[in-house]
Amino acid sequence: MAKTEKQRGSIKDALLDPSGPELEDHFLAHSGERNRRFAESPRAQGNETREEEAKAAYCREHPRIGVLAIQGDYAAHAAALQETGATPSLVKTPEDLRLDGQSLDGLILPGGESTTMLKFLEKRHFFEALRDFCAQKPVFGTCAGTILLAREVLNPPQRSLGLLDAVVERNAYGRQIDSTILTAETTLPGGPLEMVFIRAPRISAIGPGVEALAWRDGFPALVRQGAVMAATFHPELSHDRRVHRLFVALASGAPTR
Ligand code: GLN
Repeated sequence: MAKTEKQRGSIKDALLDPSGPELEDHFLAHSGERNRRFAESPRAQGNETREEEAKAAYCREHPRIGVLAIQGDYAAHAAALQETGATPSLVKTPEDLRLDGQSLDGLILPGGESTTMLKFLEKRHFFEALRDFCAQKPVFGTCAGTILLAREVLNPPQRSLGLLDAVVERNAYGRQIDSTILTAETTLPGGPLEMVFIRAPRISAIGPGVEALAWRDGFPALVRQGAVMAATFHPELSHDRRVHRLFVALASGAPTR
């Protein structure tokens, strides 16, 4: 069959024609070249930029937030994060912090028992890995998590990450039975904030770089120091998502005021 006749048919017909290996070879030989040329073309690069922009916008809206999940109420934090549109990721090992490749955008240290958490953290250099992570990325401690973040812990003193310039006194309001729910003033837009306190610590002193956003009896109950947030209560146990939304905004690099 003459080549010209063959070329009149579709490329598919030509490729299926056992008598036409020349065209097939030509097609295959040039497809690599064509792909390379397309990849270098302004059209392809425009697509790539748009794709990257869309990806970045998606990540801003749905940041991946780790929740330290060795003890305490991490599941409630994961659910609260999901309600804000963030993607929670449970952190059970130092590897889960993924300090290498595709890292987390932030981390929540939940409430629970800070001494029990410390015991876990002291294995396999988890404490050091956590400190490295929290020094680089936004972090939010609630209750026991706030105790872990503090510069100094009292009643009794214990080891801490030293990333929040604050003195935190454990069990400052008494025992489990003294746990309480209060609604108090906050600087967060939207009026007074419900705060669930469970064997809560007290932030008894803060450094000059720490801003109080809510108070209990005149002591800061919610604070922020740059990319570090800490609460002596459990915002994950209330329906109000303002506190988590603030942290998610911080983790996604969005303006927070
Ligand atoms: N009392 C706990 C501690 O000292 C904290 C309580 C909590 O996280 N709700 O670690």
